[in-house]
Amino acid sequence: MEKIKHLLLENKAWAGSKVDINKDYFKNMAKDQNPEFLWIGCSDSRVPESEITNSTPGQIFVHRNIANLVVHTDTNFLSVLSYAVNNLQVPHVIVCGHYNCGGVKAALSHSSLGLIDNWVRNIKDTYFTHKFEIEKISTEREKVNKLVEFNVLEQVKNLTHTAIIQKAWHDRQAPHIHGWVYDLDSGLLKELVTIKPGSEIDSAYRYDF
Ligand SMILES: [Zn+2]
Repeated sequence: MEKIKHLLLENKAWAGSKVDINKDYFKNMAKDQNPEFLWIGCSDSRVPESEITNSTPGQIFVHRNIANLVVHTDTNFLSVLSYAVNNLQVPHVIVCGHYNCGGVKAALSHSSLGLIDNWVRNIKDTYFTHKFEIEKISTEREKVNKLVEFNVLEQVKNLTHTAIIQKAWHDRQAPHIHGWVYDLDSGLLKELVTIKPGSEIDSAYRYDF
């Protein structure tokens, strides 16, 4: 059978299994969403946020792109962030990277991949900032994984530099911002950092509300 047809068949089976357990499952789900988390993750197919956190539909609002970047000129991302923070009022925003990330690997290579070079350039800038520390590492794999961690920390910082987050911190003392890394080898998430609402922000990026 064609693999694409398999997806549709599996969907039917899944929907049926939900209704078997609770006949109002979709009726209730369709009413509204009230997620507590915004997940900013990598598009990599091996890091499906609901699966790895054992969450159900409705629990996580999601934005995924190559290498889980927070880019202040990305209106797609900013719209997701604004909706999650201002409309859904999520109490937590999670940036989740993963070891052995292809986007991060690309940033450490000298190959041109076409259009993607411009996206990956954001990670190259993070590499440049932390070059000294990364170059002390001897294996390529560990270098990539160190940059994966620096990349998550950088994106967390980028979040705190947005007016969206700073205004929410001022108005409702939320959200908390979390930086995590997913380990493909063990299936485990590692916490790198948690930033509390109202934390100090470098004055160059601070807005007064
Ligand atoms: Zn990735």
